[in-house]
Amino acid sequence: METYAWSIPLRTRFRGIEVREGLLWQGPAGWAEWSPFLDYGGSELVPWLRAAREAAEQDWPAPVRDRVPVNVTVPVVEPEQAHRIVTGSGCRTAKVKVADPRSAIADDIARLEAVRDALGPDGRLRIDANGAWDVPTARRHLRELARFGLEYAEQPCPSTEDLAALRRHLAHDGLDVPIAADESIRRSGDPERVVALEAADVAVLKVQPLGGVRACLELAERLGLPVVVSSALETSVGLAAGLALAAALPELPYACGLNTSRLLTDDVVDEPLVALDGWMTVRRPAPSPARLAALAAAPEVSARWARRLEETVTLSR
Ligand SMILES: [Mg+2]
Repeated sequence: METYAWSIPLRTRFRGIEVREGLLWQGPAGWAEWSPFLDYGGSELVPWLRAAREAAEQDWPAPVRDRVPVNVTVPVVEPEQAHRIVTGSGCRTAKVKVADPRSAIADDIARLEAVRDALGPDGRLRIDANGAWDVPTARRHLRELARFGLEYAEQPCPSTEDLAALRRHLAHDGLDVPIAADESIRRSGDPERVVALEAADVAVLKVQPLGGVRACLELAERLGLPVVVSSALETSVGLAAGLALAAALPELPYACGLNTSRLLTDDVVDEPLVALDGWMTVRRPAPSPARLAALAAAPEVSARWARRLEETVTLSR
């Protein structure tokens, strides 16, 4: 099997990273992307491999819709830039990254003000804290941020137990901010605990860390929560798997976080998967040989990914 290692810078530092890397390969069913973040390791990488193998070797489940509503993602940027990103996107839902260790809550508030202004009163606004707050801090901040009319707060605290405690506090405070679980679903090793502890109102599902489109469909059914499909900052090859999941879910009440190809400075396909007026068309583009060559990772990066894949294949047996 021939694999292609790629390396693409991000437009804006995101999740603490500046460059996205991964592998692509082609199987009988189509192209697969394997791009676990570098802070994942060991057996955590096996579900990412299962997702890639599914993409390469099996057809995805049949779609029940041919387009998917998506949000615009606003990284930790200045308010003026946040406003421009939202206005330029055409999306009616914005997800704003908050609680970055290098910025203060006042910066988050200024960015949320700009985004609410850009969306207008009818647009939907959600935040993602990537588990950065402890329970008292989340309770305090959400009380203040609730005035922006939050659709939900994604992973405000790190653990599932924290989310459950925060949810009880918010109910006690009479604060209507739904909680979405992301890291608690994809990284805790026990997604069903979110339901057992009543820790969230919404489940964020990502195809690669959760082992593929089929695995996510089954998990969605077991969880019984409304699902938001999000990307893991993939190229359009990886995003196509997320779109396939969003297209196959029986219900899709929220905009999905799949409109992320523009967070990368380039893409491996000629026509990247991007939203038009807040919608993405369900399709599966193949990489172009010229782009694969232009975006090829340096030899030492390529060698590191080959080793990573080999170790993960061994672990998967
Ligand atoms: Mg998230």
